[in-house]
Amino acid sequence: MSYSGPHSDPFGPSDPYRPSDSFDSDRPRRSRLRRPLTVALAALVPGALLGWLAYEALGGAGSGGDGGPDGARAGAGAASSAPGTAPGGDDRPGTLSAPPSRATAPLRGKVVVIDPGHNPANFRHTAEIDRQVDIGTNHKECDTTGTSTNSGYTEAEFTLDVAHRLRTLLQRQGATVKLTQDGDRPFGPCVDERARIGNTAHADAVVSIHADGSAAGNRGFHVILPAAVHAGAADTRAVVGPSKDLGKVLASDFARSTGTSPSNYVGDGTGLVTRRDLGGLNLSTVPKVFIECGNMRDSKDAALLTSGVWRQKAAQGMSEGIVSFLHGS
Ligand SMILES: [Zn+2]
Repeated sequence: MSYSGPHSDPFGPSDPYRPSDSFDSDRPRRSRLRRPLTVALAALVPGALLGWLAYEALGGAGSGGDGGPDGARAGAGAASSAPGTAPGGDDRPGTLSAPPSRATAPLRGKVVVIDPGHNPANFRHTAEIDRQVDIGTNHKECDTTGTSTNSGYTEAEFTLDVAHRLRTLLQRQGATVKLTQDGDRPFGPCVDERARIGNTAHADAVVSIHADGSAAGNRGFHVILPAAVHAGAADTRAVVGPSKDLGKVLASDFARSTGTSPSNYVGDGTGLVTRRDLGGLNLSTVPKVFIECGNMRDSKDAALLTSGVWRQKAAQGMSEGIVSFLHGS
C-alpha cells in the first residue's frame, strides 16, 4: 500500500492564508508573522501524518510484543500468523508494544522443560553412560545411546531436532523453555540429572522426547506416564495425576497434528503406557511424561521420523498439548 497521498502537502500550492496577505495590507506585521507560522504548520501537519502512518504500519496499539525471546513477534503479528509459520517475518520494534494478552502469549509465566532423549555423542562415552545411577526403585545406566533408523538416522538427532522445533513454538507463546541438553555436553546428562533439571526449574510441565527401537511392523507413538512410585529417592505420588492429564492431551494433540495412530504394540490402542522403571519419571517432582514418537526400526515409521515436515507437525502437536494442559491446570 502506498502512503504517497497523505504525504502530499495540502497547504503547499493552495495555502489558504496566502491570498489574505494581499488583501490585508493594513496589517503587514500580522501577515509577516502569519507566513512563518503557516510554513511551520505546513511542515508540522505532514509530519504528524507521517508519524501516524508509521504507527499504523507498525501495528499501532494492537502490537503486543512481550519483550521475551520471541516476544517481538507477539501481538498483531501473532494474531495473523498461526503457530508453526516460519519465524522472522514480522519482527517489530518493541517501542510501540502494549502489555501481552493471554491470546498473544498464553504461556507467559510458565516454565516448560524439554528433555531431548539421549545425546548425539553418547556413543563416544560408553563407559561414562554405563555408570549406574539410583532411580529410587533400583539402579540403572546413567544414559543410553538410543536407537536409530536402519539407514543410520539416530534417535539423539531426532530428539534434538524436535526439541528445537518445540522450543521455538513454546517461546513464541511466551513460555520460558529449558532444554536438559542441547548437544552442548560430551554425554548425557544422566537420567537422574535430567529429572533434577525439571525439578530445579520448578517446571510446570516436562516432556522427554524419544523414538522407539522396536521390531519392524510395530508402529505408532505412545506417551509414557509415571507410575505411583514411593521408594528411596523416588516419590511420584503427587505428580501422577497431573502427569496423566498432561499425557492424555499430549497424545490426543500429537495424534491429530501428525495424523498418526497410537502404538499398535503397547498401550492397547490408547497411546498411553504407565511405567515404574524409568529414572527420568521416578525422580520427577513436577508433571512429566515421555513421548515415543514412533518406531525407528519400522520403515514406514522411519519415513515419517526422518521427514522435517512430519517433525514440525510432531512439535506442533506437543506444543498444543502443553498449552491445553497448562491452561487446564
Ligand atoms: Zn530413547
